[in-house]
Amino acid sequence: MKNNILVIGGGPAGLEASANLKRMGYNVILIEKESKLGGHLAKWDRLFPDGVSARKTLEALTDEIRGVNCFTETQVQSLNILDKSYNAILSNGITVLADAVLLSSGFDLFKAEKKEEYGYGIYEGVITNADLEKAFREKKMPLNEPRAIGFVHCVGSRDEKAGNPACSKVCCATAVKQACEIKEVYPNADVYCFYMDLRMFGRHYEDLYLKAQKEFGIRFIRGRVSEVAEMADGRLQVKAEDTLSSKPIRVTLDMLVLMAGMRPSEAGRSVGRQINLTTEDDGFFSSEDNLLAIQKSKLPGFFYAGACTGPKTLPDTLHEARSAALEIDRYIKENTREK
Ligand SMILES: Cc1cc2nc3c(=O)[nH]c(=O)nc-3n(C[C@H](O)[C@H](O)[C@H](O)COP(=O)(O)OP(=O)(O)OC[C@H]3O[C@@H](n4cnc5c(N)ncnc54)[C@H](O)[C@@H]3O)c2cc1C
Ligand code: SF4
Repeated sequence: MKNNILVIGGGPAGLEASANLKRMGYNVILIEKESKLGGHLAKWDRLFPDGVSARKTLEALTDEIRGVNCFTETQVQSLNILDKSYNAILSNGITVLADAVLLSSGFDLFKAEKKEEYGYGIYEGVITNADLEKAFREKKMPLNEPRAIGFVHCVGSRDEKAGNPACSKVCCATAVKQACEIKEVYPNADVYCFYMDLRMFGRHYEDLYLKAQKEFGIRFIRGRVSEVAEMADGRLQVKAEDTLSSKPIRVTLDMLVLMAGMRPSEAGRSVGRQINLTTEDDGFFSSEDNLLAIQKSKLPGFFYAGACTGPKTLPDTLHEARSAALEIDRYIKENTREK
């Protein structure tokens, strides 16, 4: 069986689906626009809920893709639907005639500078969740003896003004995890989480939340931050309203970490536009059926896996990648001639 399957996007979803398709005997062509595989996982340090190493998790995924034809720094230049296949011309000059295509283009992080009131890109002390992961990963912490650090949940998510009323699912758990890690590095600092609701839905997530309160003394304040200003000494004055006590609060912080949410990948959408793939109001791709067939697009032979159909945790992404591989196998067996 040598049918060609084109996988677009070499993050966790693309890697896991490619490994499974290769094991099933397909000729897999995996393309990734960046110079390295791994997608966002390559940028994280330790993963919620158990704190396992993102680096080791990624190594385990890449170890499994032996035999996959893998092209980094490569994108789709043009994509056309033929009778029972897809013709893709890649930016490296290679043309692929694929019996099925899997799109695993993932997500982009919300651009935090769009929320001007938080001062990202203006005040040095304001960083994002991704910046903090980078600092943990490179062991280059930005502060010396800080007195107080805050985390703002729902940045660019659940926010009509930012054009995204949906929840990004992963950022409550990321905030609680990062708040605990910050306390490990700076045990004397006061740490605050400003949240709207806490969505700690997964297995062991609640344990992480309890640990954050009991072991690390992190203060959870229900309320949106309304204003951030830099003071003469470079520290940040943050105003919020505690909606549980209905009292305004004002805290002075050394660092404010913005929990930027997950938005549809622009590079993924540009592939979608070439074959008129449909998206939902939130900009993520629409599936044939959101319950029964989230891995199937509305086009025959075109499938999805991972965060290109909406915010997802890593385990959800990997489950979807495996089931997309099974769906592709079924599609090939039912619809195309095995080669
Ligand atoms: C701050 C933060 C922390 C997180 N921490 C955790 C955690 O601790 N635990 C957990 O379970 N989950 C975590 N997640 C979620 C996790 O990152 C995602 O579930 C996972 O990255 C989704 O994988 P993916 O392959 O679908 O997408 P991505 O990781 O976004 O990978 C997509 C890949 O496709 C490539 N690509 C896109 N378009 C194209 C194109 N046209 N051509 C070629 N390549 C393309 C991209 O360059 C990228 O490499 C976190 C998310 C965020 C935002
Ligand atoms: S997961 Fe939490 S922080 Fe992220 S958008 Fe949903 S409620 Fe907000």
